Amino acid sequence: MLERRPVHLALKILNIQQDDLVLCQDFTFVATINPVLYEKAVPILIDSEPDTLNMCPSALRKAIVENIAQGKKPKSVIAVHLYGMPAKIRQIKKICDEFEIPLVEDAAEALGSKVRDQYVGTFGDISIFSFNGNKIITTSSGGALVTDNSEWADRARYMASQSKENVPYYQHNDIGYNYAMSNLSAGIGCGQMEVLQERIDARRSIYARYEEAFAEVEGITFQQEYGFNLSNRWLSTIRFDCRFGDAFPFDLKKALDREGIEIRNMWKPMHLQPICSGLEKVSTKSRMLTEELFYSGICLPSGSALTKDEQEKVIDSIKKKVYGHHSEFSIPARHSVV
Ligand SMILES: *Cc1c(COP(=O)(O)O)cnc(C)c1O
Repeated sequence: MLERRPVHLALKILNIQQDDLVLCQDFTFVATINPVLYEKAVPILIDSEPDTLNMCPSALRKAIVENIAQGKKPKSVIAVHLYGMPAKIRQIKKICDEFEIPLVEDAAEALGSKVRDQYVGTFGDISIFSFNGNKIITTSSGGALVTDNSEWADRARYMASQSKENVPYYQHNDIGYNYAMSNLSAGIGCGQMEVLQERIDARRSIYARYEEAFAEVEGITFQQEYGFNLSNRWLSTIRFDCRFGDAFPFDLKKALDREGIEIRNMWKPMHLQPICSGLEKVSTKSRMLTEELFYSGICLPSGSALTKDEQEKVIDSIKKKVYGHHSEFSIPARHSVV
């Protein structure tokens, strides 16, 4: 159903309360974490794996086992398909099922992406989509909550409309929310669904052009599709390997800003955010991969309306900076990333 705050509603349906543990992806946009904090529950931040840059199933298992051993069973897992790239969601779901922990699948950025033949947003016990202004299709704000559990679906509808009981007068036994999407927005969304495939095609060809253009550049790597997965390529991202140094993406952003080209740093991981200070983070490595991603990665201009000429300008500008950097430090032949 269509809702304005689907992640928050998902947590309310799962009855997440103060001090409950919620295992969250460390590498995400803050919209995934904030609803956990609204409820005064405790996010535990799970590292990413290098194939999809999303939640690492081994780190997830480790976090579950360690917390259960300390007598605290996590109440929920929230996994994300970042930049449209499907996470290892089958493995994640299997682990959740094994420990009987409900999975919330945050497919906000990944409408239309697939794991083999199955669309993302259909793996979680509850899945959510976002139609916020910057997403691949938009209703200006809001999103959708998807579940096979009809009791939960009814509960979501009820809570989204101020928890009004089904009696002739206004009766409220639970705290409710004004989270229902307006008919006007929903109407826009229905129209947008018609252009979804076009948008995906456009974004996928933008990614393909970037990959082709940067393939020759030593030290640039791509967020490639893993296995037989398909990404909607909401955002095209690239990474600069360790030879460039931790400051390069930030310097590049400053330089391109001056030329009127907007690139973005990759998401700054949640464990580096002041609102998450002191929270437990779990990895199978000594340094969080999510931190490396922040210091090595950028999101390229990827809007469906980006023209070929605009994209070539972006490519030229980045190549100039990269080759400038290369010659300065005489970088040796390409080898694999950190
Ligand atoms: C956009 C987004 C959301 C939802 O954001 P809203 O502004 O609440 O619609 C949730 N998770 C991720 C990863 C997102 O990118």
